[in-house]
Amino acid sequence: MIEKLVIANRGEIALRIQRACRELGIRTVAVHSEADRDAKYVKLAEESVCIGPAQAADSYLNGPAVIAAAEVTSAGAIHPGYGFLAENADFAERVEHSGFVFVGPSADTIRLMGDKVSAIEAMREAGVPCVPGSGGPLGEDDQENLRIAEDIGYPVIIKAAGGGGGKGMRVVHTESALLNAISLTRAESDAAFHNDTVYMEKFLEKPRHVEIQVLADGLGNVVYLGDRDCSLQRRHQKVVEEAPAPGVRDAKRDEVGRRCIDACRKINYRSAGTFEFLYQDDEFYFIEMNTRIQVEHPVTEMVTGIDLVKEQICIASGEPLGIQQQDVTIRGHAIECRINAEDPETFLPSPGRIDQYHQPGGPGIRVDSHIYNSYLVPPYYDSLIAKLVAHGSSRDEAIARMRSALSEMVVEGIKTNLPLHREIMSDDGFNNAEFTIHYLEQSLLK
Ligand code: ADP
Repeated sequence: MIEKLVIANRGEIALRIQRACRELGIRTVAVHSEADRDAKYVKLAEESVCIGPAQAADSYLNGPAVIAAAEVTSAGAIHPGYGFLAENADFAERVEHSGFVFVGPSADTIRLMGDKVSAIEAMREAGVPCVPGSGGPLGEDDQENLRIAEDIGYPVIIKAAGGGGGKGMRVVHTESALLNAISLTRAESDAAFHNDTVYMEKFLEKPRHVEIQVLADGLGNVVYLGDRDCSLQRRHQKVVEEAPAPGVRDAKRDEVGRRCIDACRKINYRSAGTFEFLYQDDEFYFIEMNTRIQVEHPVTEMVTGIDLVKEQICIASGEPLGIQQQDVTIRGHAIECRINAEDPETFLPSPGRIDQYHQPGGPGIRVDSHIYNSYLVPPYYDSLIAKLVAHGSSRDEAIARMRSALSEMVVEGIKTNLPLHREIMSDDGFNNAEFTIHYLEQSLLK
């Protein structure tokens, strides 16, 4: 088992990883920027190393500084959390070449899944259902590209193979707009991601975002841990997530889950991972795989009782997965609200000093947060300050518990999106699970 681990992240996920390590008897090293010196998880870690100034590019994204921190503290492993270096294949490779364990899949797997065209090709080969599309990169032949779009049927979406964070995509409704859209997306993608490969997919008009969580040990043992619905998004950022995805038939979920297992075996996947799908008219369409722990992992933990972060660390230690598919049962329903330090009207970040914080509680309530009274929310990073999770025996009970928790939660001194979450939990469309990925922006944020 790993004895000492570097947590190459900050905020709630740094604390989350630290808690898992404490349970496993693993000592932790917190690496932090100058701005996070006083963070709770830094104080609670056995050791801490300042790796640079506040700007993430000079600290949390500085791979050599993170590896140096592991060297000087004689740690055995590095957990990247999510964001920052979590899906950087070169970093994963350097970690392993330096003799440390990277808590995640191999660099080759990260690279394969990081390129959307190669990811889709691998998934298609493994029998995972994909969005009808070009099935590979678009070439320079205009007539051929027009024909591909004609075959798929308009509207289509042009996407950058190296895209991410909702960037590098363009929807095309008519034939006359196609060729221009391809060259624009190509140029943008080249500028933003140094990769001008683009591909084409059918544009689904009213999908939900449903994803499947997997755990694999790289030794052939793979399980899927049900699904999550993350349709409530603003500008491609998830706002509310839940498990299981409401209304998805058990047989369908199981069929797709088993395809994901096959795919993991085929690509020799190791660690926790997520297959993201668009879901429309009872069909799943793969869009991408995330090769890391996700922000919304707690909803899966609440309904399965399985600690994903501990499992990730045990897998990274070389232990075979102790869970079999028949051990996985989904109990009840869980919902997560992402509480952000942001203006509820303008959505602009709202950093600053928290001068009143009251954390909610009660049956089925979990709060993953690094904040406390008088904590200073720094302006340099993502605005997520807390994940409020409610578990209940049914979706209705989970919503009722979430409503109660939201009414108790107080964060003063900064602005937060708590009012939006209160509105969502009282909204009929949400309560009836009648939504698509456009619902939040089109119906609630008008
Ligand atoms: P990123 O890596 O940038 O998040 P994704 O491929 O996951 O890119 O797509 C991001 C979002 O764009 C999806 O969640 C969905 O809202 C929209 N999208 C992507 N592909 C399609 C499609 N074929 N049809 C409809 N919407 C799509």
